[in-house]
Amino acid sequence: MTQVVAVANQKGGVAKTTTVHTLGVALAELGDRVLLVDLDAQACLTWSLGVDPEVLQTTLHDVLTGRLTAKQVIVPVGNLQLLPSAIDLAGSEVHLLTKTGREHVLSRALHPLLDDLDVVLIDCPPSLGILTINGLTAAKEVLIPLQCETLSHRGVGQLLETIEDVRAFTNPSLAVRGIIATMFDRRTRHAREVVEDVGDRYGLRVLEPPIPKSVRFAEAPARGLTVLDHAPRTPGASAYRALAEQLRSSRHSPAEAAG
Ligand code: ADP
Ligand code: MG
Repeated sequence: MTQVVAVANQKGGVAKTTTVHTLGVALAELGDRVLLVDLDAQACLTWSLGVDPEVLQTTLHDVLTGRLTAKQVIVPVGNLQLLPSAIDLAGSEVHLLTKTGREHVLSRALHPLLDDLDVVLIDCPPSLGILTINGLTAAKEVLIPLQCETLSHRGVGQLLETIEDVRAFTNPSLAVRGIIATMFDRRTRHAREVVEDVGDRYGLRVLEPPIPKSVRFAEAPARGLTVLDHAPRTPGASAYRALAEQLRSSRHSPAEAAG
């Protein structure tokens, strides 16, 4: 069965896109057939894969509005496949709001592709709107990147409420795999406390290892790379490789529902 994972947190800048891209590359290196889905109208994932959103003729918007199939829009990027986006995705939100069954549009669009894929990683936008709901409805599990500096955990509570709603209305078996601690600074006491506290407070697993904070991550996308190729022997690269191995090895024993 294809592993379909939504990477979600309505807070921007917590490393959702970085996580999708880097895990995608790591999984493809391990031999997986990987599809990345850019659900954010800012198209950062599309951009960081080296595809210019402004020159794309067709995007996920055409799929969500029913004009094209996902297969017609997917672009190969190295050994990955990308369902790309551009700013027109903002129009999809408006379109979907008028439609019956709007939560299921992405799920249905991906369905015919699943037999030929091992894993689908969905990069959710920084909101809990209809696009994120589509991502959560299409997914079997959720990964929640959390920036360790944050003091406020209120965002996580809201995200878990949305996940509960999705379970109640569109996707009963949606599981939360856990939190990925991103931009982690081991030297500060605070980072450790934030992670432990969020895990306890919401009954969520904190996946190991945390992703260390490193300037290498910010440098990589401008070169169309992830940290895996830009700085392969750094702790950040090893951490994402370790998480990719875990995702893979759990493929035949899905994450239990938590949260
Ligand atoms: P989101 O998709 O949640 O908005 P991004 O993946 O775009 O977040 O990351 C936000 C910024 O943080 C980007 O500039 C990215 O390069 C940087 N970044 C991501 N992970 C790390 C890290 N571990 N250490 C330092 N910077 C990081
Ligand atoms: Mg992003």
